[in-house]
Amino acid sequence: MDLDEQVGRVLGYGEICDHCLGRFFGKKSHGLTNAERGHGLRVARALRENVPYRAHEGSCWICHGLFDDLGVWVDRVVQALAGVEYATFLIGTRVPPLMAESEELVWSDLGLDGPEPLKSEVNREVGKAVSEITGREADLGKPDMVAILDLARDSVVLEISPLFFRGRYRKLERGIPQTRWPCRVCHGAGCERCGFTGKMYADSVEELIGRTATEAFRAEDAILHGAGREDIDARMLGEGRPFVMEMVAPLRRSVDLAALEEGVNNAAAGRVGVTIGGWATRGEVETLKSEKAHKKYRISVEVEGGIARKELEEALDRLRGAVISQQTPARVVHRRADRIRERRVVDARVAGQEDGTFFLDVVGEAGLYVKELVSGDGGRTRPSLAGLIGRPARVIQLDVLEVEGSGEME
Ligand SMILES: [Zn+2]
Ligand SMILES: [Zn+2]
Repeated sequence: MDLDEQVGRVLGYGEICDHCLGRFFGKKSHGLTNAERGHGLRVARALRENVPYRAHEGSCWICHGLFDDLGVWVDRVVQALAGVEYATFLIGTRVPPLMAESEELVWSDLGLDGPEPLKSEVNREVGKAVSEITGREADLGKPDMVAILDLARDSVVLEISPLFFRGRYRKLERGIPQTRWPCRVCHGAGCERCGFTGKMYADSVEELIGRTATEAFRAEDAILHGAGREDIDARMLGEGRPFVMEMVAPLRRSVDLAALEEGVNNAAAGRVGVTIGGWATRGEVETLKSEKAHKKYRISVEVEGGIARKELEEALDRLRGAVISQQTPARVVHRRADRIRERRVVDARVAGQEDGTFFLDVVGEAGLYVKELVSGDGGRTRPSLAGLIGRPARVIQLDVLEVEGSGEME
């Protein structure tokens, strides 16, 4: 079937606009818009058949006049973008199934080899117009936001890309979980047990940093991704634990991170402190989660019936460098798989002593359960301090002094 015959067949389906006609032959020639292409084909056919030229009028059976109204969509996008900070954008279009099926029917009926889908013409044309009005660049790779034209609903939906920044946090107060912990009873809906907060704890490190950050970025939410986590009752001291914060749907993007750091440290004073290292990417979240950093703990230990320093040091000598076999601790086995894993104690030594309580510094591989290393967890952890000295021992308090690695992820 030659081109003229194909055009004749397309015109035979019903009233069609120049855009939709031209788009069926979108790969033919260059430097033409689809509307120019469609018009040209219509003129060429009239000349060749020597019949009166007739311009398109009425409603196009494919797009139902969408391309006559493209300016309306441009205005909708520009309005939706007002009040949002972005440098780059992308237009996306949700095409109603019936509209897509109409053009696909013609493609297969006529065996067309280079048609352009309606969606890509809309995306390109609206994108060009929005770019001219706003002065912002369209970006096919990683745009700051995507404006989706929902043709069936006559509305524009914005998908604002998240922003990430990296830092380290110190947790100065015990009893704060790292991230929000939904109420066990209502799972977040709000009930009497949780005082209708939906949460087990009023605050988390995530919220203590996130509240200030959410305000600064005018974001919907802030999600903390940590390099591991400490227990709720443990502090996180020293240089702090590396994290990446994900700002969800931020309306502002040009936030001064130094000012943000100061704002967080003021708002969370005495509870959480942060140093913010810079901007991050989603890829860094994965790196952060997969890193196996050593952790250094300062623990205070109580041994039933007391213990002499020398005996304690001898036991620590045997733990230093040892590979510990740990079955999932009894205290967490209700929410984690029950299995045995091995972690090494890199270092363990006495750091101080006060009224019969010993302070120990323990460096362990990521994932070492330190409380169980001391108590033995009823034989689930071997070897353990309690096992080596033959008497019950337990951790009274625990702080994380250092999380090695990470942070230097530039
Ligand atoms: Zn049309
Ligand atoms: Zn509840």
